[in-house]
Amino acid sequence: AMNARTILITGGAGFIGSNFVYHWCETYPGDRVIVLDALTYAGNRATLNPLEETANLRFVQGDICDRPLIDRLLQEETITTVAHFAAESHVDRSILGPDAFVQTNVVGTFTLLEAFRQHWLAQDKPEHFRFLHVSTDEVYGSLDADDPAFSETTSYSPNSPYSASKAGSDHLARAYFHTYGMPTLITNCSNNYGPFHFPEKLIPLMCINILLGKPLPVYGDGQNIRDWLFVRDHCRALDCVLNQANPGETYNVGGNNEVKNIDLVNMLCDLMDELAKDLPVHPARDLITFVKDRPGHDRRYAIDATKISTELGWVPQETLETGLRKTVQWYLSHENWWQPLLSEEYQAYYQKVYA
Ligand code: NAD
Repeated sequence: AMNARTILITGGAGFIGSNFVYHWCETYPGDRVIVLDALTYAGNRATLNPLEETANLRFVQGDICDRPLIDRLLQEETITTVAHFAAESHVDRSILGPDAFVQTNVVGTFTLLEAFRQHWLAQDKPEHFRFLHVSTDEVYGSLDADDPAFSETTSYSPNSPYSASKAGSDHLARAYFHTYGMPTLITNCSNNYGPFHFPEKLIPLMCINILLGKPLPVYGDGQNIRDWLFVRDHCRALDCVLNQANPGETYNVGGNNEVKNIDLVNMLCDLMDELAKDLPVHPARDLITFVKDRPGHDRRYAIDATKISTELGWVPQETLETGLRKTVQWYLSHENWWQPLLSEEYQAYYQKVYA
């Protein structure tokens, strides 16, 4: 029989974290779920409201850098599993202000790792304990057009303050396995998209601007290439890793959907033309505006997900076409979720980035 688990999900009020909370509560209704989230600009407690009535869920507002709080939670709830999502996650914001990225991503991850190590030691190193560190493919740096995709053995070469801070936290998670034998796992995933994605990110930004009839800012020449994965496919991958992988392993996760930014924006415009009623500007492609490129903008990311598919049997269920359609439909029917996020702070940020 499987051990009763209590899982601590950090950053569970953010985009991927909240989707993962939904995934976990739906898949393992017997497990207890503790969400720890500081509710920064990117965290939204309302996202979890529907679950708080039914699931065995406790929400704690707090910072992953707060060691006494973490110690207390680990003990009081006898946490067996950590899924660590909490992070500053937006590259453009890391260029404007890198401090919070080093603090949360490096110091915060270190604080969690060290607290979990003490908890694991105090419990006599139970075999079923796991610490999953959720990371990004951006730690590998940028690819040229004909380079092979990133594999788990590609060397790290982060280019932005965001990816450098994530790289630092990945190295710590790795070191905790190699030095202490602590059962850490690391995943490096490509760009996610789907429900509950904060409006500043490319896909929701385009959907919302199309609805509002605002220009669609595309960086540089629009030829930057990203791999895109539907967020629930990522959550299923993380579930496979937590439940099946050997401690100390690392897995790349990707959708096999390499697309140029401009092609993605065109796809979104066409979907919105088809699915939205009474758009202010039609066709939506007329709103596309090229803007000054992001400093240090990585040209291409691509993921080789062979390891997770052959070892753990994970493959994505959505194609880019089906996933984008679901996402556009979600933004069209959840204006009450995203409208309140277009705050004054958000508008000020927006002006700075696309000035
Ligand atoms: P997000 O910005 O939407 O959510 C981050 C959450 O962490 C927010 O709820 C925020 O309130 C919380 N948080 C921030 N600082 C905190 C702190 N100090 N203490 C406690 N909580 C804090 O980010 P996301 O897109 O959901 O990304 C989640 C994780 O997945 C990150 O670690 C990110 O690096 C990684 N990742 C993201 C993507 C992507 O495409 N979004 C891809 C690969 C990996």
